Amino acid sequence: MELCDKSAMNLAALLRKGEVSSREITESVFRRIEEREKTLNAYITIVNEAALKQADQADERFRKRENLPLLAGIPLAVKDILCTKGIKTTCGSKILNNFVPTYNATAVDRALRDGAVIIGKTNMDEFGMGSSTENSIIGPTRNPVNTQLVAGGSSGGSAAATASGEAILALGTDTGGSIRQPSAFCGTVGLKPTYGRVSRYGVIAYASSLDQVGPIGRTVEDCAMLLNSIAGHDSLDSTSADLDKPDFLQALKKDVKGLKAGLPREYFIKGLDKGIKNKIDEAVKLLEKNGVEIIEISLPHTSYAVSVYYLIATAEASSNLARYDGVKYGFRSDNDIQDSIAMYEATRSEGFGKEVKRRIMLGTYVLSAGYYDAYYLKAQRIRAMIKKDFDKAFEDVDFIITPTTPCLPFKLGEKLSDPLQMYLVDIYTVSLNLSGLPGMSLNCGNINGLPVGMQIIGRAFDEEMVLRVGHGYEKITA
Ligand code: GLN
Repeated sequence: MELCDKSAMNLAALLRKGEVSSREITESVFRRIEEREKTLNAYITIVNEAALKQADQADERFRKRENLPLLAGIPLAVKDILCTKGIKTTCGSKILNNFVPTYNATAVDRALRDGAVIIGKTNMDEFGMGSSTENSIIGPTRNPVNTQLVAGGSSGGSAAATASGEAILALGTDTGGSIRQPSAFCGTVGLKPTYGRVSRYGVIAYASSLDQVGPIGRTVEDCAMLLNSIAGHDSLDSTSADLDKPDFLQALKKDVKGLKAGLPREYFIKGLDKGIKNKIDEAVKLLEKNGVEIIEISLPHTSYAVSVYYLIATAEASSNLARYDGVKYGFRSDNDIQDSIAMYEATRSEGFGKEVKRRIMLGTYVLSAGYYDAYYLKAQRIRAMIKKDFDKAFEDVDFIITPTTPCLPFKLGEKLSDPLQMYLVDIYTVSLNLSGLPGMSLNCGNINGLPVGMQIIGRAFDEEMVLRVGHGYEKITA
């Protein structure tokens, strides 16, 4: 097995025994990139030299027998939505094609503090808007499992890089499913933490009340390890929760026996792929055999989630994206421009892609004076009801199990002409962003070689439960 195919935890152990160096691991990742990146298109920017320098620095510290965090010397891919000091950060958009941040996002800063080796910036749908990375300015990432298929999105680059050995771990962001859905499609583990668990400082905003940064890895343990580095209060983000940070790896030591799992009736309905349903049923049976009590629950407002999500997300996006006007940074149209209004117009018309424009228009419309009450305010009310459904369910259960997606990874181009079809891929993931809850997708088998994702949902700030169940399931099926 190549080094780049090993888990982060495994590599961390080898590094500590002095059996491998971070340079060797990093070179192994670059060899894989050499082999596969032309096809996969998982990265927007790759930083070879800087990465090897970071690897050498980590090795130097290992040689001095410093007591280093587990992340030290491990290659990490970073979604191109997180600001990286001195490294171009495009958010998959033409409008930021020349943007080089002067600071790091907090999550990046913390990973670097712990000695991670940053390999590059991963491909994504423009501003996080999409479910397939087909909305990226550099074109789509292909699914490493089958390159005719999408890798999912918007963190498709991060998931594909992790799945293929082009990285060991990755950072993604999730506004409506963008960590969990590509993880389901590529067969990786992806965790969206509770809103407020990981700082959003330096994360280019899509929808600020929904966005969350989280880890993607090949095992639950690896996700827990990366979460240990990036989580915790940050005074630079006013929505960051001022709570003690648990040791998420410790949480994996407890088994699943005696826990209660909820299965929401409303998630197992027409439209869910039969094969996926069977795989989830099998996983549930296995958990039951291992001492988990299964309880049917109801989340009655589920059917509104996608509509509510697309009203709130587009409203917030229309406001957040108002800042890209060609004045301070990023792309500026060089058309023959007479005045500033014409400059804004030309810059935004040329700089944003089709889907981003669609959402800015929709968001501006739902926030407009005449329609605010009818759409935006109503959506906020139903959002509160969706959250209440979860609160009620969690009175009886410790965690909830659902499919991550209603369908298997689809063909490139298949849903591109029908935005509604694309939006429906998020049907099982958006409710968690609307409620702020943590959720993780992990692989629960394959259908004709294509990965199936199972979603585990926890109470707010109970990532420990989510990780514990996920790890428990991995052990049962190992
Ligand atoms: N696919 C969803 C959207 O387009 C979710 C994206 C995300 O989580 N960033 O909004």
